[in-house]
Amino acid sequence: MPHIDIQISPDSNIEELVAALPIAAEVLTQFGLGCSGCGVSKYETIAQGAKAHGLRVEPVIAALTQARLSGFVPLVSNEDRTPARRAPGSFNGRARIKYVIPIMSGKGGVGKSLVTALIAIGLRRKHYAVGILDGDITGPSIPKLFGLRTPLAIEADPAVKNDKGQAQPLMVPAVTRSAIEVVSANLLTDKEDTAMIWRGPILSGVIRQFYEQVLWSDLDFLLIDLPPGTSDAPLTILQSLPVDGVVLVTMPQALATMIVRKAANLVHQLKKQILGVVENMSYFVAPDTGTKYEIFGPSYADKVSELAGAPVLARIPIDPEKARLADEGRVEEIDDPICDQLADSLLAALALHPKPKEVISII
Ligand code: ADP
Repeated sequence: MPHIDIQISPDSNIEELVAALPIAAEVLTQFGLGCSGCGVSKYETIAQGAKAHGLRVEPVIAALTQARLSGFVPLVSNEDRTPARRAPGSFNGRARIKYVIPIMSGKGGVGKSLVTALIAIGLRRKHYAVGILDGDITGPSIPKLFGLRTPLAIEADPAVKNDKGQAQPLMVPAVTRSAIEVVSANLLTDKEDTAMIWRGPILSGVIRQFYEQVLWSDLDFLLIDLPPGTSDAPLTILQSLPVDGVVLVTMPQALATMIVRKAANLVHQLKKQILGVVENMSYFVAPDTGTKYEIFGPSYADKVSELAGAPVLARIPIDPEKARLADEGRVEEIDDPICDQLADSLLAALALHPKPKEVISII
């Protein structure tokens, strides 16, 4: 049935539009804008969604209007649904990345990858352009959190020539439903369970390639999910990339203070900034009684913050619902104020450390 009474404009909020006109979700999916079902859509207009995905808004509005009148999803031309992620002509082999922020943990299993994803989602809700470089090469979990499976495409960039004058092949990042760009070793093969064997020096080389030999869009934030610990790989990354500051993720355990001291020392020795500390799995709130339990023991967040010389950005509770959505590849459906808190406190921490440089060019 036609819904001529529903207004469709670039300023229409995606979630409200889909609620009033369900066929809009199918139309948006045709454009690769799968965000109608994700947490970001609540915060985004059609114009903002189209921009984030590198699409022109006019064809999206035209298709939505046609679907509203006819009740059918119109055919969308390839041209209209192909992201032009950089303005034509503006790309000359250099993506402009404003902030490079590695997420580090002293040890594995503290939820570093999930925290990286939650920060990315929080920043996207504020309409920043965000990418995640999955540097946890031996245990890459970022694609799984976002339900990404298709191997990365390779494109030759005519603007970058190798020694033989040939165009340099570059990886094209995968794009999540809410337009977060992702590069991961798990997306180099179509078999999710293929074990990749990387030795130390190769490992840091691969991470560098993920930074340099990728057609990243111009980004506000590139978050790097670092390998856990203070081994060679995180060290090399911190040393060799233009890092603006590190986020440390810990858990409430006595051991954490010792591990964090080590990680903090490493970061400081490399003359990099710790922007803040996130205590994950900090406590659990029983859904039936509201009682708060400190499952892993009392919080060490303040002690860790003192050691790191940086503020506590957030204390994240244990939440089976978050773990479930993450396991199902639907992390973007987590619609929790913690994402905004992480983004807000990170932005506040960055504001305290003004950048000496305006933008960073890669390559
Ligand atoms: P790391 O990257 O530090 O190895 P992950 O992010 O992969 O850790 O998290 C390990 C496991 O713990 C995952 O299954 C994840 O879903 C779960 N997890 C992480 N943080 C939380 C949390 N706050 N509540 C519930 N489960 C969590």
